[in-house]
Amino acid sequence: MFRIDGDSSLSHFPACILAFRAVIPAVMSEIPITPDRIRNIAIIAHVDHGKTTLVDQMLKQAGSFRENQTVDDRAMDSMDQERERGITIKAKNTSIRWGDNIINIVDTPGHADFGGEVERVMKMVDGVMLVVDAYEGPQAQTRFVLKKALAAGLTPIVFVNKIDRANAEPLEVHDKVLELFLDLEATEEQFEAPFLYGSAKNGFADVEPNENAPDMVPLLDAIMEKIPAPKVDPEADFTMLVSNIDWSDYVGRIAIGKILSGTVSVADTVWRIHDGEKPQRAKISKVFEYNALATSEAEIAVAGNIVGLSGFEDVDIGETIAADSEAAHIPFVEIDPPTVMMSFAVNDGPFAGTEGDRVTSREIRDRLIREGRTNVSIKVEDTASAGEFKVSARGAMQVAVVVEQMRREGYEVLVTRPTVIKREIDGKMHEPFETLYLEVPDDAVGGCMQSLANRKGTTEAMSAKNGRTNLEVTIPTRGLIGFEFELLNLTSGEGIMSHLFKEYRPDSGDIRTRHTGTLVSMEKGEAMNYSLLNIETRGKLFISPGENVYEGMIVGENPRTDDLPVNPTKAKHVTNHRAAGSDKTVNLTPALKFSLERAIEYIEPDELVEATPKNIRLRKRILDANERKRAKKKADTDSVTG
Ligand code: GDP
Repeated sequence: MFRIDGDSSLSHFPACILAFRAVIPAVMSEIPITPDRIRNIAIIAHVDHGKTTLVDQMLKQAGSFRENQTVDDRAMDSMDQERERGITIKAKNTSIRWGDNIINIVDTPGHADFGGEVERVMKMVDGVMLVVDAYEGPQAQTRFVLKKALAAGLTPIVFVNKIDRANAEPLEVHDKVLELFLDLEATEEQFEAPFLYGSAKNGFADVEPNENAPDMVPLLDAIMEKIPAPKVDPEADFTMLVSNIDWSDYVGRIAIGKILSGTVSVADTVWRIHDGEKPQRAKISKVFEYNALATSEAEIAVAGNIVGLSGFEDVDIGETIAADSEAAHIPFVEIDPPTVMMSFAVNDGPFAGTEGDRVTSREIRDRLIREGRTNVSIKVEDTASAGEFKVSARGAMQVAVVVEQMRREGYEVLVTRPTVIKREIDGKMHEPFETLYLEVPDDAVGGCMQSLANRKGTTEAMSAKNGRTNLEVTIPTRGLIGFEFELLNLTSGEGIMSHLFKEYRPDSGDIRTRHTGTLVSMEKGEAMNYSLLNIETRGKLFISPGENVYEGMIVGENPRTDDLPVNPTKAKHVTNHRAAGSDKTVNLTPALKFSLERAIEYIEPDELVEATPKNIRLRKRILDANERKRAKKKADTDSVTG
């Protein structure tokens, strides 16, 4: 039996890849699977409401877990960053074999950068399961995806989880979910959604809050009964729309999608059909299905099932795979083009190699190439200079997740501020624009509109309901950089946003989101309380006493627009034998500490973020003060003469 272990490279999935936990060659089962025995559902849950536990329980009770498989081999486990950010970054899928039925559960990414991704998921499924904590109720972060699901006409099922909690209020949560459905303009049919109550942890579910329910069967039954079977044609020739791409070291690119008609088997000849291009022939080398269990026999890939196919030299999202070379290209939700770009470079600062153990250009390149292969929303390119790589993505957050992941894996890397990818159209520079969807508390609308106006956004539509206002704004992608952080502040964390690429439009001119300069260290050494007290009178500090600094490192913010050289390493002249480092007598205001994302968005083009496993430092691109001055002079004259 062929198996790629759950902890092999396949389990290392970056942003929004539909991941297979275990990969099994398709084998005919005794009873042929027909579309009426398949259910495809998307799952939506706020982080920590119990999605992972629930899917594991369903797998276990449906008999898909092996006896000896431990529960910590979790089918939908989240990465640390997801918990910290409160969103799903890696969408993971699983398939449950329930009697003679197959229930495919497709995870949904939860961040604003993945708008197009969410729409593609909704096209593959016929129903959606909303998992809500019986105490916390529905949370703002799940609204966007739920709205998309309802708008796509999907049939919802609600699972109110954790009813075993002492302070659970399952019936109140029921009402809150219905309120949310109303808000999101659910149809009458959707409003009639079945509710189930239970405890994923304790393995029970029922149609009413009943702590003595014996198992999860009512939930599995509800899925089979209430969610429609996929509408596909099992008799016609094989066709599948590629909705996502996966990658494995063993078989290369894997095309993932729902089979829309016919069946497919290993060794079949198929055609890759894309608009306006000659169909390309390929031979299927493997047929994969989602599964949490490696040793069960896999199903034949029949219409309605969501599967992965390998055997292609190259294959892309949006292509149609068909048995007939004349088959029509199936329309699909376009992948948004990458709109932002960041450079990654080898750390060349004076502390290079002291905090991480993966620091060479080769290590960084290999890691990025690997990311690019498994993460469809990220593109990695070499540049003219050896230790520098360009990473393009759909949003700054997607790249920040990669940097953060690398830090945690022991890498040191220098990154630039994200810039947007411009295009020359008819001899004129154009830049990407997005449609931004915002939902904020009514009292935050003024502040948000002000901020958006500064970022060259124009409001297209606005509507208010139940204390919250929805805004639809057209805004340059550039204007979105750093906005998420501002939104958090403006709405005390209550605002939610998502964005979709709109179009390229003529360059909208200068957008300034930072109006301050920096305090730059002139020296290398240890920062001293004494000198920081002096520097503090000039601006905000980013460092604390005892931290090591170097020449060209940014140690604070200058309220004026220029950069001010400072020396944080001077100790108070001591007359006794006290160690120079222990000069902490007067208290400093606590230093301002940046998250990686915030740091990336804060810096200017002539600055860099140094990300290591231990620290996030801001620095000038050119560390030497004299060289920096010369470079600036040259840039100024160039801009005058050029
Ligand atoms: P996810 O982030 O949505 O995937 O959530 P997890 O499945 O990881 O669960 C988050 C936390 O809630 C874990 O500590 C679980 O043990 C706990 N949990 C999940 N289901 C239940 C439940 O039914 N009752 C209680 N009391 N805790 C639960």
